[in-house]
Amino acid sequence: MNDTLPNFPAGKAVIFNGHGLPFEFISREVPFIKPGEILVKTIYTTLCGSDIHTYSGRRLEPPKVVLGHEIVGNILWIDPAHPGKDFRGEPIKAGDRITWSIFSVPAGITPPRPDIPQKSEQLFKYGHALAAGDDVFNGGLADYCILRSNTALIKIDPSMPVKVAATISCAHATVMGAVRIAGDIAGKRVMVFGAGLLGLSCISMCREAGAGWIGVMDHDTTRLSWSRKFGANYAYSYPGDENLQLPWPEADIVFDMTGNPQVMKMGIDTLAVGGCAVWIGAVFPATPVQIDAQKVVRKLLQIRGLHNYNYEDFLLATSFIEKNYGKYPFEELIEMEYPLERIEEAFAFASNSRPVRVGIKIN
Ligand SMILES: [Zn+2]
Repeated sequence: MNDTLPNFPAGKAVIFNGHGLPFEFISREVPFIKPGEILVKTIYTTLCGSDIHTYSGRRLEPPKVVLGHEIVGNILWIDPAHPGKDFRGEPIKAGDRITWSIFSVPAGITPPRPDIPQKSEQLFKYGHALAAGDDVFNGGLADYCILRSNTALIKIDPSMPVKVAATISCAHATVMGAVRIAGDIAGKRVMVFGAGLLGLSCISMCREAGAGWIGVMDHDTTRLSWSRKFGANYAYSYPGDENLQLPWPEADIVFDMTGNPQVMKMGIDTLAVGGCAVWIGAVFPATPVQIDAQKVVRKLLQIRGLHNYNYEDFLLATSFIEKNYGKYPFEELIEMEYPLERIEEAFAFASNSRPVRVGIKIN
């Protein structure tokens, strides 16, 4: 324990031990806070699609992990070696509400390129790390989260609903990155595949960026029913057979949030000459996408992938949500809420009923 660290009460953490195994509740004292770190009281975490994939065994994480990486909390303690400012340069203090980047680049590591820090070696990611010994406050399903040095954090107004604030650090920041690599959206015809939180966020960002027309496709009609409120012009049900005439018009930009190989192929087939496909949904193993290379060449198409996001995306996403959470009903997308104690039920419901998001309230 640091000499100067006040005596905070022990905290709970929920350990995921693997697919099919029960969650394990543990209690730990607040451990040693290293130089430059920040202790946060977690107040709300939303279950992201990748958490659900891990729970269902579709993707693998370390054998013991505190899941949850869409987190919001209040600062409890700032180590004196921290610069004391957020990513915008605003001074921070205990009690401030913050959102923070999903990753932290370890000290001494240089990112492969300045614009892709999320692909640095030895990258640390909240909600994805081995929970061992004292090091358990590193994911969203716990009372505390210890922010490593080099974590981009942004002070947000406590008036922003916690359900919305929690989703910034994965869903909205990733979508902001997807919109960035798609290029200029103004006046463009956009088709979004997948109407979960990523798709609906993308629709609203493209609407605000001045898209000419926005269509969205999903097999889930309940999810599609949200899309007009987020700015879509037209919603399409999954047509079933990728070889049929597609029921939507050509698009200049397509976004894939599904990770489904058939749907990604449909996206390529949707593109007009000079179009661009942005893929962010394919984050679990699947069969290869059958792409007609001649079509890509003759139609001058681009395919761009994005995993996670960079600091600028995170900053722009936070500003976007600050400006627009009252305009679009983001808060309503957290369709169900559970206390941390009912985490088993929360994951079962998220997995079986597929609400847009399930929120976990952490007292
Ligand atoms: Zn996520």
